[in-house]
Amino acid sequence: MEKGKVFLVGAGPGHPDLLTIKAYRLIGEADVIVYDRLIQEACLAHARNDCEKIYAGKAPSCHQSRQSEINEILAKKALEGKMVVRLKGGDCLLFSRGGEEAEYLAERGIPFEFVPGVTSALAAPAAVGIPVTHRDIATSFCVISGHQKEDATMKPLDYDFSALAKIDTLVVLMGVKNLKRISDALISHGKPKETPVALVQQAFWPDEKALFSTLERVATDAEQAGIAPPAVLIIGKVVGEGVRLKQQARDVGLAEGERLGKRGQRRVGMVPGSSMLYPLHLSLEGVLCVVVGAGKVAERRVKRLLQAGARIRLVSTDAVASLEELAKEGKIQWISRAFEPEDLEGATLAFACTDDRETNLRVAFEARKRGILVNVADDPVACDFTLPACVIRGPLVISVSTSARSPGLSAAIRRRLERQFGEEWGELCSVLMELRPEIVRLNVPPDEITRRIEDLLDTDCLSLLKRGLREEAKQLVREKLGI
Ligand code: SAH
Repeated sequence: MEKGKVFLVGAGPGHPDLLTIKAYRLIGEADVIVYDRLIQEACLAHARNDCEKIYAGKAPSCHQSRQSEINEILAKKALEGKMVVRLKGGDCLLFSRGGEEAEYLAERGIPFEFVPGVTSALAAPAAVGIPVTHRDIATSFCVISGHQKEDATMKPLDYDFSALAKIDTLVVLMGVKNLKRISDALISHGKPKETPVALVQQAFWPDEKALFSTLERVATDAEQAGIAPPAVLIIGKVVGEGVRLKQQARDVGLAEGERLGKRGQRRVGMVPGSSMLYPLHLSLEGVLCVVVGAGKVAERRVKRLLQAGARIRLVSTDAVASLEELAKEGKIQWISRAFEPEDLEGATLAFACTDDRETNLRVAFEARKRGILVNVADDPVACDFTLPACVIRGPLVISVSTSARSPGLSAAIRRRLERQFGEEWGELCSVLMELRPEIVRLNVPPDEITRRIEDLLDTDCLSLLKRGLREEAKQLVREKLGI
């Protein structure tokens, strides 16, 4: 039997949104998935129904033998010709024994591949707004493990703490149990005791928790706050920066544990994840759409939404003249102040088009929370839906979408279509609409109607419409369709 292959895959810090595209794809294709304790169920939701899922979770105090069992399973399944995904939390090679597993496979001539993932060493600080490096404050960082193989002996951690004390930003994984030993050792080797530290538990999980403290107090504070593994400890001035950014991050919904749980349950959003967007021409007659921002982009959105019969609530402190005019005429509602979440009340769609990214993301976050689909200008990642480039000829709409990959290409194609399809095409469409009841009564199969319409396009019907000779054109349509 041909040998299978083992993919050693990093699954990111837990939430499926932070899987790489390759990890996501491999999970969907695997015959066997051997996964760790730190993988959320949702990451496996799209695995094949017949995929064998093997839990290989190791509690922190688990004994050595479990690892050899895992090695054996990986080898066995691959030798059966299966495609095996060995899914690990964070990155596949950071404190993960990915190297050992690969060696074991290599010794047996079993093909394998590493697929890196988003490590918690970077994701946990990011979750609470901490940049691990920051201009003027930190130009280096170091990641260490807070426990060592023979940890049960409680012997001192075998590090050069005087060297570690000099690192700008120190990131400690698996450090909860040894918090006091680590912080004491750093302080006694010269790290100021008031150095800010953060402890982030279960970053990007629904019950994410964060604690901000100092090197001196962190062990006590963590105990009081009940912080438990898995958690990442971050030590350094950048944590102070994080405290500053955290407030804003929270405002835009980046630091609330519940956000991901909620978003995770929704299947929409995240445009780049899909290969194609579902084309939809939606009826917005009488439907409330909220547009936040009132510049040029908003102006375009509002114009098109009005054409589609939507009701519009515009939120912005000031507005370009044309929008102001529409508000004065009562054609749109204008709330002239900064965005508040309650502005979304009753809306079906939201459009975030201010020139401030933070505000736009906040609108997106608040909209998602309420189950409102949102479009964010210039930010396809944050969009639930994107807007195609359109050629509008009355009821006829030709739309072009590149699934948010290239607005430039969409625009270029639109311009070509505009030249090709003049107003007469819209006229033809409305003539056909008028005749529709009669066409239906003909009781001719749809394919045959299509063929007759194709023939019609070869006549001078369109040039009649172009010259404004509607009745003559209509007569020709009747003739060609057999009415
Ligand atoms: N390979 C993983 C690390 C495995 S070691 C990675 O790259 O992230 C396990 C440790 O990772 C945990 O004890 C904890 O310190 C950290 N960790 C993993 N996921 C985490 C998460 N979502 N939040 C906080 N810490 C996490």
